[in-house]
Amino acid sequence: MTVHVFQVDPSPRLTPYAYERNAIAEAGGELILANCANEAEVIQQARDAEIILVSWSRYVTPDVMAALPKLRLIARWGVGYDMIDADAAAALGIAVVNTPTYCGEEVAEHAIALLFAYGRRLTWSHERIRAGLYQAPPFVIRRLSGRTLGIIGCGRIGSKVARRAIALGINVIAYDPNRSDDDLRAIGVEPRSFDQVLAEADYLTLHVPLDASTWHMIDAVALAKIRPETMLINTSRGAVINQTALVDALSSGRLAAAGLDVYEQEPMAPDNPLRSLEHVTLTPHAAAWSEDSIELLRVEMCENVAEWIATGWNHKVVNPEVRSHLRPRL
Ligand code: NAD
Repeated sequence: MTVHVFQVDPSPRLTPYAYERNAIAEAGGELILANCANEAEVIQQARDAEIILVSWSRYVTPDVMAALPKLRLIARWGVGYDMIDADAAAALGIAVVNTPTYCGEEVAEHAIALLFAYGRRLTWSHERIRAGLYQAPPFVIRRLSGRTLGIIGCGRIGSKVARRAIALGINVIAYDPNRSDDDLRAIGVEPRSFDQVLAEADYLTLHVPLDASTWHMIDAVALAKIRPETMLINTSRGAVINQTALVDALSSGRLAAAGLDVYEQEPMAPDNPLRSLEHVTLTPHAAAWSEDSIELLRVEMCENVAEWIATGWNHKVVNPEVRSHLRPRL
């Protein structure tokens, strides 16, 4: 029996999905490309699907999952899966899987690039030269080596950032409630509490998943604990930071700088105040992308689908509690 694999929202970067069509066909599936504009369209068009693939769509809601009795696996093209309610899926007997490893190198490189953009005042200088000026930055600039980088969330990507920063002679401290002190010290990182990381970091970088524990974790209260010389870097998810509080802190000088790849609202509105603030470097949620990572993403996703079709399970499932009551294949 051919397994129906339904792509809710094709990505222009992956179109026409030739590699995926072949790999999924070889695994015993058929890839169907849709472009669903709402929940009702998903329910209507994905009714034969055992597997749904999600790029960024938020339409695979618990109601949609409940209305698709054949659905057994939701697979996200990416590391973060905050647009899918994995707990609700588990309650309905549906597994959720992501592609956790394809872009760790790129995101770590991007976080370090943002650090340099402010650390060496590259953005500031570049903007002035483009504007016809030729002026050395009139600021106190400290060498990066010997400064302290604070990492919040030291998992796959945070650890890669740490390795790069240590190689640059930067001291690295981190807060991660799910990693032991010994584990962090083994990679050259000094463990700290959340408040200590905020207070000690010269550069602070966020690498947490977006969930209830991290939503707005950098709010006005947290920002007040950060020293005014500090730069904040975010390549995780926009809603980890309360943007209103961030704009307040930057515009009042209570925070020196920011390097951001992700935003509470994406795409960013033309009148977003972040666009016009000094010492803010912005990129359009692009930290993950390179030719190398896209290729790995394709392979990782197709391996996820093939493993599922062959065995009825996937070793990367993010809600493994579902295994005891997984829906049967219809
Ligand atoms: P990971 O699961 O390997 O690491 C996340 C770490 O955060 C874990 O060690 C976890 O213990 C820690 N954590 C969880 N809750 C925390 C909390 N409340 N406080 C502090 N630490 C906490 O994930 P990863 O591969 O390192 O990716 C991290 C996030 O980066 C992803 O969830 C995704 O949202 C984001 N991401 C963004 C891009 C991009 O293009 N900008 C690309 C890939 C990933």
